Amino acid sequence: MRQTIIDSDYNFSQAIAGTNAPLHVVDRLSMLDVCYFSFDGLRHQGQIIVDQAFEDDVAEIFALMEELKFPVGKVIPICAYGWRDDDSMKDNNSSGFNFRLIEGTTNLSLHALGRALDINPLQNPIIYPGGIIAPAGAAYDPRQAGTLSAEHPVVEEFLIRGWRWGGNFDHLKDYHHFEKI
Ligand SMILES: [Zn+2]
Repeated sequence: MRQTIIDSDYNFSQAIAGTNAPLHVVDRLSMLDVCYFSFDGLRHQGQIIVDQAFEDDVAEIFALMEELKFPVGKVIPICAYGWRDDDSMKDNNSSGFNFRLIEGTTNLSLHALGRALDINPLQNPIIYPGGIIAPAGAAYDPRQAGTLSAEHPVVEEFLIRGWRWGGNFDHLKDYHHFEKI
């Protein structure tokens, strides 16, 4: 049998240690093991925390990405980065739950409820009006592997399931971001 590389092996309490989320939020979360081909071409296993209502969506979308061999860099709960989204993005980590505000605002992000997912931030950066890109040094080129675009089957699958894609936002482009209310 082909070997799977384990990128993340937390238990749930380890994975939420240090979050500021209130208990009623934490109680709605669940952590899934997901498999994917990373940019090294090998099969990896990671973990992602989402609202338990979205478990099936997330499991099935990861299964689709694996089937398509759509590369996913790594999937590690953001506790591994001290809950710092910047550090997670720079490391090209894909993630879900993080009890935090939307960058540059005082509004709670849907990540705070486990209702948003970020995939491959380096291939799919945020592009602010004026052209500032985060993470710094990233570039958006839909021809590159691991990059999402409007006609991509992974984006289509999210949309069919009622998720919004940040690549369709008007005020900025958040190509790695998906959310569902
Ligand atoms: Zn996001």
